[in-house]
Amino acid sequence: MEKARALPAVKRIALVAHNNKKEALLEWAEANKEFLSKHELVATGSTGELIEKKLKVPVTRLLSGPLGGDQQIGSLIAEGKLDFLVFFWDPMEAQAHDSDVKALLRLAVAWNILVADNRTTADFIVSSSQMQKKYEIQLEDFSKY
Ligand code: PGA
Repeated sequence: MEKARALPAVKRIALVAHNNKKEALLEWAEANKEFLSKHELVATGSTGELIEKKLKVPVTRLLSGPLGGDQQIGSLIAEGKLDFLVFFWDPMEAQAHDSDVKALLRLAVAWNILVADNRTTADFIVSSSQMQKKYEIQLEDFSKY
């Protein structure tokens, strides 16, 4: 049997970008500052520092991604404490922490949260009329595995 988790009006949003994608995430965040400032932001270490400096909005900074920050975000997802993951990962370069990246993306799917891997998806999610409505995330029962 599936369970559900109601998405809160003020969402907790995680921002993560690999080094070659940091500029792209900063540009997107700047363009969506009004939206982002209405929500609670968390980020991996270096990404969070850049976002805070550029947008002048509070960001809860976790550890840097390669030092455990991705796993901290994964843990928030598993505890039902994250609603939207904006993760601009680099499709062209292997990362030292590729296993953590994979684990984070896996948990985002397993817990059925909003995920944007690129600017187009992030733009569509932010402008979705569902943002203003009550929405219940369906949680799959994995006990059959
Ligand atoms: P960073 O981590 O924001 O600390 O650079 C991002 C990542 O590679 O996960």
